[in-house]
This record gives sequence, C-alpha cells and structure tokens, in this order.
Amino acid sequence: MTTPETSYEELKKSLREISLLGSTASVLHWDEQTYMPPAGAEYRAEQVSLLARMVHEQFTAPRIGELLAAVEGSTLIKDPESDAAANTRETRRSYDRATRLPSAFVEELSRVTSLAHHAWVEARKTSDFAAFQPWLEKIIVLKREEADLVGHKGNRYDALLDEYEPNETADGVRAVFESLRGSLVELVGKIMDSGRKAPVEILERHYPAAKQEQLAREAAARVGFDFNAGRLDVSVHPFCTGLVPGDTRITTRYDESYFGDAFFGVLHETGHALYDQGLNKDAFGLPVGEAVSLGIHESQSRMWENLVGRSRAFWKFFLPRTREVLGSTLDGVSDDDWYFAINDVRPSFIRTESDEVTYNLHVLLRFELEEALLSGDLTPADVPDAWNEKVRKYLGITPPDHARGCLQDVHWSGGSFGYFPTYTLGNLYAAQLFEAARRDLGDLDGQIASGSFAPLLGWLRGKIHRHGKRYTPRELARRATGQELSADALLDYLRKKTGELYGI
Ligand code: ZN
Repeated sequence: MTTPETSYEELKKSLREISLLGSTASVLHWDEQTYMPPAGAEYRAEQVSLLARMVHEQFTAPRIGELLAAVEGSTLIKDPESDAAANTRETRRSYDRATRLPSAFVEELSRVTSLAHHAWVEARKTSDFAAFQPWLEKIIVLKREEADLVGHKGNRYDALLDEYEPNETADGVRAVFESLRGSLVELVGKIMDSGRKAPVEILERHYPAAKQEQLAREAAARVGFDFNAGRLDVSVHPFCTGLVPGDTRITTRYDESYFGDAFFGVLHETGHALYDQGLNKDAFGLPVGEAVSLGIHESQSRMWENLVGRSRAFWKFFLPRTREVLGSTLDGVSDDDWYFAINDVRPSFIRTESDEVTYNLHVLLRFELEEALLSGDLTPADVPDAWNEKVRKYLGITPPDHARGCLQDVHWSGGSFGYFPTYTLGNLYAAQLFEAARRDLGDLDGQIASGSFAPLLGWLRGKIHRHGKRYTPRELARRATGQELSADALLDYLRKKTGELYGI
C-alpha cells in the first residue's frame, strides 16, 4: 500500500541515487582539472554530459512529482523544521525550477554558452569586446527567457539570483549593497590619501613551491581540514569539491614569486571544505545534508581566508612556524611588516586579485550592470563604457583595456547572471558570523593566537554546517547571529583594521 511514509522513503532513495550519479560526475570533473592528460578531453566531455543528462532525466521524472505531491499533503511535514518538511520543500523548489525549463531550452542555453565561452576566451586574449558582444546579446535574451519560464514576481533578476541564493531578491541585495557602497568608496579614498603603502615586496621574494605547499597543508590541517577525508592537489583554477561524505577535495596553484596566492587560496578553499566536511553525513543526497547557498558557502571560505587568516592573532601563532620553514627568505621582515603586507589595500583592475576592501566594489558594479542589462536599461554595446565609468567612480582608476575591464570574468559567458552578488553576501555574512562567534566564544583572538581553532569550527558546525538547507540563508544567519543581514559588521571590521594600518 502506498502511504505518505512509503512515498517519502522512495523519494529519499531516488534523491540519494541521483546524488550518487551526480557525485560520480564530480569525480570525473575533479580528475579533468587535476590529472587527466590533455588528449582525454574529448571523451571526458562525453562522459560528463552523459551523466549530467541522466541526473536531469531522473530528477525531472514525473514519479518525483508524484512522490512530492503524496508527501506534501500529509502530516509528515506538519513541523516545518523537521527533516521531512525541509527535504520536501527544497526538493519541490528544485523540481519546479528544473521541470519548468523545457529540454529544448536547456540544450539551446548549453549550446550558446559553450560557444560563447570559447568566444570569450579569444576576445579576452585580444581585449576585443566587439567579438564577444553578439554572444552577450544572445545570452541576455536567453536569461530573460529563463527567468520568465522559471517565474518571478516582476523582477527577472530574482529568478536568476534564486538559483544561487535561494529566497534572496534583487531588492534585498540592493538595499544592503547600497549601504555598503558609499562607505567603501570613502574608506578607499582615505586609505589612498594616507600616503602609507604596505611593504608588498616582501611577498614577492622567492618562495619555493614545496615550502608553500608544506605551510598551506599545515595551516589547513591545523584549522580543521581532515586530510583523511580530503585531498589537496594542483589545478589551474583553484576550487573545492565535496564529492561524498568522507571525500572533499581542494586545489591550488603555486607561484614561486608570490606568497599570497597559494597560502590564502588554500585557506579559502579549506573554508569551503570545512563546510562540506561538516554537513550531516547521514543525510547525503538530501537537502538537509546539502549546503544552503553560495553566499553562505562563501562566508565560510572568506572567514577562514580573511577574518582568521589575515588577522594578527593568526600570525602570532603561525609566523614563527612560517619563518622556520622559509628560513632566510623572511630575514629582516618584522611581524608588523608581514601583517601590513598581507593586508595591503589598493585599487586594482582585477576582481580576483583585489583586497578585502576594494573586492566588494568590484562585485557591486557587476551586480548593478547585470540588473541594468536584464531590465534593458543598459545595452550590451554600452557595457565597456558603463564598466569603465563605474571603476573610475568607485576605485578612482581607469582600466587600460577590456581584458582588464569588462572581459575579465568567466561568469557572463557561461550564463551565470545572478552569481556575483553571492561573493559580497559571503563577506557580509562572514563578518556578522565572526562577530557573533566572538560574542559567544569570549576570547576568540586568544584562542586563534594559541593555535586553537576548534572552538570557532565547533561554533560554525553547530550554527551553520549541520543545518544544511533546513532554513533559508537569511533565516540561518539570523538564528546564528540574532541579527538581520546588514553592512554594519563588515564595515566595522574593515574600518578597524585599515584604521590601525593606515592611521586613518
Ligand atoms: Zn569561494
């Protein structure tokens, strides 16, 4: 006999199988980025796209809809915070989104973005926006169509943002970003006017890759990365992939003439990995066992990279060991020099190379342009001018070419509109969570300075990781911090840090 209970069991079994299939594709993807020989690319693409099609077919099968409907009307989900309720609610969200997009549309989007990606790679090489413009035009038309197919309450951006940050809206993002923008522009101006410059040349000495790797591994393990349930390898573009419980992989790349890239990159990916390693293992494949959003995921990576990894407390603990491993490389470098060098703030053209303060201005301008492009207030042809104008206004510099301007990011060529805001949401959530952890844990700096990271990690496990998708991102953060999302904590943190370094 079919009951809501048996339907729910069947639903969970199907979701687990779909996740097993999806995670198998992720192993292939990880291998492609790390160890696969170049000649394997052609068949690897076929392997991955076959698995992706199987995942899509199984997840959008009418049977999933029937099972959801059987559970939805039942008493199984009367407690909205129960596993059953959260799993049903979140599966319904993803199911509706996936089934509202006809397969012909999905194939067309995939075809166009694949060609657009190649066009973008070439256009960026020669800094030729005109070569990319027709592709951007096609993608915007498709993304508008996608938003309309998925459904929205008047603002198409909401439907696109929702894929990365469930339940967030453009209005919600804009309100917080606008309270951030003016203060950041003012802060950057004061820093530039201070006349102080961080001794960044310290980081540009010769740093052998083997020693960088040793330090990165030690730091990752120390803050809590479980190497028995994870790996660190090398790839061109660093990433973290949580494959299955017990197997979370991170990557980095080593530049022997720059210390910052690999070390802070590894701490960043470690932050993502700690979230994945902290998810409920018994709920693999189910929403309550999955990360809630990209913004919350990024809050974990940015917290370990910046709020912990670029703090005085962290280096009080880790600099003696760093000096020991690097030997004479750091001769003549004081603790204060090191701390200033790793916290250098200065306007630059490339988002991924920018510091904690200017980074968010890079994100804000992208969000503003995306909104204008989708609404039609801005045409693709006017993107380069609009981009450069905003960089001038926010950062006081002008990109010398489009490669270092509007062609620098991969996102638009892949159709990822609505993705950028999650980076700054991550920074905002990170600052608020860190402030709340400090309130709850007492002498957090003292703990970090003595190399004790378990209290902070334990706090994050309890407040964030173990909940998976039980709550919306905003609700999860509200429960952890007792506050609404706002720019206050991030601004306080940045003002305090730069105030001391730049005497402002
Ligand atoms: Zn990240």
